[in-house]
Amino acid sequence: MSQSAEKINLLGLSKSKMEEFFESIGEKKFRATQVIKWIHQGGVGSFDEMTNVSKALRTKLAEVAEIRAPEVVYHDYSKDGTRKWVLRLDGGSSVETVLIPEGDRATLCVSSQVGCSLDCSFCSTGKQGFNRNLTAAEIIGQLRVAILSFGPVVLKSDQRRVTNVVLMGMGEPLMNFEPVVDAMSLMMEDNAYGLSKRRVTLSTAGLVPGIDRLGEVTDVSLALSLHAPNDELRNELVPLNRRYPIQEVLASTKRYLSHCADKRVITIEYTMIDGVNDQPEHARELVHLLREFPCKLNLIPFNPFPNSGYRRSRSAAVERFKEITTKGRIITTIRSTRGDDIDAACGQLVGQVDDRTRRSEKYIPVVQEVSAQGS
Ligand code: SAH
Repeated sequence: MSQSAEKINLLGLSKSKMEEFFESIGEKKFRATQVIKWIHQGGVGSFDEMTNVSKALRTKLAEVAEIRAPEVVYHDYSKDGTRKWVLRLDGGSSVETVLIPEGDRATLCVSSQVGCSLDCSFCSTGKQGFNRNLTAAEIIGQLRVAILSFGPVVLKSDQRRVTNVVLMGMGEPLMNFEPVVDAMSLMMEDNAYGLSKRRVTLSTAGLVPGIDRLGEVTDVSLALSLHAPNDELRNELVPLNRRYPIQEVLASTKRYLSHCADKRVITIEYTMIDGVNDQPEHARELVHLLREFPCKLNLIPFNPFPNSGYRRSRSAAVERFKEITTKGRIITTIRSTRGDDIDAACGQLVGQVDDRTRRSEKYIPVVQEVSAQGS
């Protein structure tokens, strides 16, 4: 791994950056499309496999560049079909990525950082602190790993193995702006994964300057982690709120929507914590707050982790909450808890491998997947 550190990893290059790369080595721009297709649709891990590229160029590429995805350390299946991969990154840290099949959809939950600096009180990722940003290659590499785990064949649009991507894994995506935007552009690039912008969702805790900047460069779907109907409570749950209070965040997400050509709404995420934010008065306050705001509401039962100090809301409280918000004309859904038997549910991703002896017994080695990616 480390011997190739000076080579440029083509896996994470957006189309425009790939074109710049080819120009920088004195080659024609159209090579970018060719190579992007090979890497992301062909799933190749070496230049030798690129049969429509001349031998001379392949040799040149191998000298200066590489195609390298994070290494799969292990993966696990939940009894509900959810899959989780733990990926080792350069430098030794690791991240987790989760695939959630549901009917004819399969949603991949992708991480953007190792750890997180925001320290939301109910999130286990925040408790581990911040380690580092992921590179674009490490972000798109998660999608590659998930797709190639089904077999190293060229993708056909009618048999997608991953239909949706949500940046709801570890980290705050807007705190790792450029790599996240580059990776998302590959997710949507026709010559790569070709997902529609409605099927790529970035979730943020409400970093206002990041939301504004995002609106200038893309129009992916946006989810906002709100979790509270007023600033006092939100300050406690999401410390970032002290810097960017609710009204400012809502205003920035509205600005974001105004950049989108088609009609969109913001997904409001609301983690339901027993006795903390799940009472009928919270629901009523939320209805008042979000009246006239273009959104749909997704209630997420809190997923417990050791020493969180919180409990999951009772299902009766979640149902009651939903009744009130629905009556208040907010389209409301309850997120089914998936993958919690393998610690793959929201807020349970921590990406550490060494202190989890209890679970290590269950991990299935994935030698095949690693070789299939050619990394
Ligand atoms: N930083 C981004 C993306 C990561 S969190 C954000 O805040 O949106 C992805 C979603 O999982 C967020 O809505 C987050 O609040 C939620 N979440 C975090 N911890 C959780 C937990 N313990 N139980 C349920 N949902 C949780």
